Amino acid sequence: PAGAKPERSLRVLALANQKGGVGKTTTAINLGTALAAIGERVLVIDLDPQGNASTGLGIDRRTRKISTYHVLAGEASLSQASVPTAVPRLLCAPSTMDLLGLEMEMASLPDRAHRLRGAMQGLTETGTTEGVTYVLIDCPPSLNLLTINALAAADAVLVPLQCEFFALEGLSQLLRTVEQVRGALNPRLSIQGVVLTMFDPRNNLSAQVVADVRGFMGEKVYETMIPRNVRVSEAPSHGKPVLLYDLKCAGSQAYLRLASEIIQREGRLPQAA
Ligand code: ADP
Ligand code: MG
Repeated sequence: PAGAKPERSLRVLALANQKGGVGKTTTAINLGTALAAIGERVLVIDLDPQGNASTGLGIDRRTRKISTYHVLAGEASLSQASVPTAVPRLLCAPSTMDLLGLEMEMASLPDRAHRLRGAMQGLTETGTTEGVTYVLIDCPPSLNLLTINALAAADAVLVPLQCEFFALEGLSQLLRTVEQVRGALNPRLSIQGVVLTMFDPRNNLSAQVVADVRGFMGEKVYETMIPRNVRVSEAPSHGKPVLLYDLKCAGSQAYLRLASEIIQREGRLPQAA
């Protein structure tokens, strides 16, 4: 109808890389915050039993009564699991250690790879998650059933890659898994992009890795690189995204640039806040 607000589509991104410590969780927290800061409505789904994304977003373990465990177990909806954070427009569905056992419990279910995808139905229509425009799924550091659930539910994979020697090796394995998931579970799954993290301009190896990854993945690599920045690593112990902890630091500014680069590449106009 004339005068109605334009419909905002939902974009679901899985942050995946089977290597630990490459910046998946840090990117889920801070890209999520940056997208919310420019007006998007964001849900971070914590699919790592470690629960670092939940902690980094200030959600105390004792308050995680409904978690992604309950969502995947079919005992709660994503909307019921999602709680507000200190960042306006940013929600988080927290995880707990219970997720560890769920892999075993789910293994015999015929829809074991589609549990999250099923839970995503109707996500944006009612309840706390109404109107969400971006979902960021923080995956565990392995290509297990939890990560497969994320890939089956996602529109695209966002790959954080640390600027270090073995970066490309891990990337090839991840790309093969994405191919397999596309063939068997989710034909529309694409690669959203590769984010280079913990970049150190004083380190020659970092520069060489950047050149190699750009040579291999071309345009899929974002221009924005996330620098190694001590404020980024300090922020989680305060239960805050770095943008709330120190907005002016190089890490915060990089995540803001990354958010706008992602939105621009998708051809979406920033949402009026
Ligand atoms: P993953 O989720 O892939 O295992 P994390 O996001 O938890 O990786 O990051 C691993 C470690 O590196 C954490 O201690 C985090 O604080 C730190 N870290 C991540 N990104 C940066 C950065 N840009 N600068 C400094 N430290 C970082
Ligand atoms: Mg993590």
